[in-house]
Amino acid sequence: MAGIYIHIPLCKQRCIYCDFYSTQLSERADDYVAAVVSEAAMRTNDDVIKTIYIGGGTPSQLTLAQLTRLVAGLRVSFDLSMVEEFTVEVNPDDVDSDYICGLVDLGVNRVSMGVQSFVDEELHTINRRHDAGQAIDAINNIRDAGIGNVSIDLIYGIPGQTVETWCKSVSTAVGLGVEHLSAYNLTYEEGTPLWRMREAGKLKPVDDDTCVEMYKCLTEILAGAGYEHYEISNFARPGFRSKHNSAYWNGTSYIGLGAAAHSYDGEGRSYNIASFHEYVKQINAGHLPSVNEDLLQWERYDEMVMVALRTADGLNLDLLSKRFPGDYLNHFLNEAQKHLTQGNLICREGRYVIPEDRWMVGDAVIRDLMW
Ligand code: SF4
Repeated sequence: MAGIYIHIPLCKQRCIYCDFYSTQLSERADDYVAAVVSEAAMRTNDDVIKTIYIGGGTPSQLTLAQLTRLVAGLRVSFDLSMVEEFTVEVNPDDVDSDYICGLVDLGVNRVSMGVQSFVDEELHTINRRHDAGQAIDAINNIRDAGIGNVSIDLIYGIPGQTVETWCKSVSTAVGLGVEHLSAYNLTYEEGTPLWRMREAGKLKPVDDDTCVEMYKCLTEILAGAGYEHYEISNFARPGFRSKHNSAYWNGTSYIGLGAAAHSYDGEGRSYNIASFHEYVKQINAGHLPSVNEDLLQWERYDEMVMVALRTADGLNLDLLSKRFPGDYLNHFLNEAQKHLTQGNLICREGRYVIPEDRWMVGDAVIRDLMW
């Protein structure tokens, strides 16, 4: 079984914290869609496709006609009859009822929306192009169209945000009944406008202790509302964990289509070129614009440890010892000892798990366990 990820690198406006690859070339979207359909044909195989995820960028910058061509092209190259989860990322101000109904007609059964905050001043600070009211309207439109699986992203640590305003955003999400929520701590990626503003003293970052408090409030509010905290940044109502992302964390293979998309065949990864123009040009010339990356054994070990320990299910020791016997397993068991003693790690039913109340220090634990 496998998943397909399609990257749509179009954004109408850049958010100041973002370092993802995207462009504002929506006038060339037709060329891009045609190129992705061609790439699908080049990568065609007999895998059973279980999940499709169209992400970005901003996929909702594509018109319904363009998305329809894209999905029709996928159907030609892959058997989509077993797809269980089909997600499209949307921006709140792109979607009206007609657009959402069009997505339903294409088979989309899950919508993921970058809301980031339900406080207008915070949205303005990070240069989002929607306001809180538009996000609420969009969620209601999605529900009215019959999509019963809505995921939203929220960000904590936005300059000017307080624990109180953060809790208000989380509670608003709960009140709207979203099935899935991803919450990320704002990061200052080098080279982004946000990073430059901090360097120039033009904004005051939220301090670490407040971010820890925000994370605690997040977990408490969502636990009280019945959400499962199944990955360090991800929460879901029972039965609504993201199948597509869970497959990434389980090491399932996936096919990535589009500029800057990655593919993984269970052994190695390949990366598509992160340039809209070059991607379209090379595909039109009949070349796959990707480079292979064959992971070394220690890189595969690190990845398994890192990804598994960020989830509530943790790391399966049996699997680790089968895939990485000898030195790797010994290293893991030796390094794990002190964290077991300190309570940063627990071992239950053959799995090593970082307890939820230690996830804020989880990165340090994981670093110790890596090769
Ligand atoms: S919409 Fe998403 S991909 Fe585009 S700039 Fe904002 S965060 Fe980045």
